[in-house]
Amino acid sequence: MHEKMNLLRELQEIDQELAQMTAVRTRHENELQNLSADKERIQTMVDELTAQLDVLQKEEAQLQQELLGEQDQIEKVEGRLPEIQTQKEYVAVLKEIDLAKKASIETQAKTAEKEKEIAELQADLDEKQTELKAISEKSEARQTEVAALLKENDEKVKARQATRDSLAKDLPKQLLRKYQQIFARRGGLAVTQAVDGACLGCNMQLPPQQYNQLHRGTELQSCPHCNRLLYMEQA
Ligand SMILES: [Zn+2]
Repeated sequence: MHEKMNLLRELQEIDQELAQMTAVRTRHENELQNLSADKERIQTMVDELTAQLDVLQKEEAQLQQELLGEQDQIEKVEGRLPEIQTQKEYVAVLKEIDLAKKASIETQAKTAEKEKEIAELQADLDEKQTELKAISEKSEARQTEVAALLKENDEKVKARQATRDSLAKDLPKQLLRKYQQIFARRGGLAVTQAVDGACLGCNMQLPPQQYNQLHRGTELQSCPHCNRLLYMEQA
């Protein structure tokens, strides 16, 4: 009986290590996923800002076109001045020039406003692009590091798994199945010590008769409260 119990204790130690290694793998994978999600989020921002900037630049080019047209119009009307013969005609042309200049000034103001918007957006975009570059570099470097850690972890898992398999082979199938069930249901602790008449897995008192049997060590005992398999350290 002691021999089986020793095997089970050894098995549990390995299973706990394996569970830890699985947790390490999950942690690493989550870290990489988070980095990649961050990167994607910033990339989306960069794409959106680039699209907005494109729209503004097209609008600005349109305004520049309008300005050229208005400039042409002013020159054309001013060109008519030398040919003017009547006072009435003169007043009308001056009024036309005045209107064309006002339109041009308005378009210039709109253009300046657009250029300001473009400059602000460009600054945002520059900032986000710097951020994207930084996170891409970080992500890439970390990916290399984590890949190495995962490889190391996987090799350890493989080695421990092999030891586990050979240990498990020496245990009766039914006992192994029972152990595995309790291990899964009871937070990775299936085999536990009994001390001073109590189960250390759940801290409940064991029936005195069972405790005595445990002392004799003739058969495997389960805690009646948590079902864990019990052992006693022999004095
Ligand atoms: Zn218990």
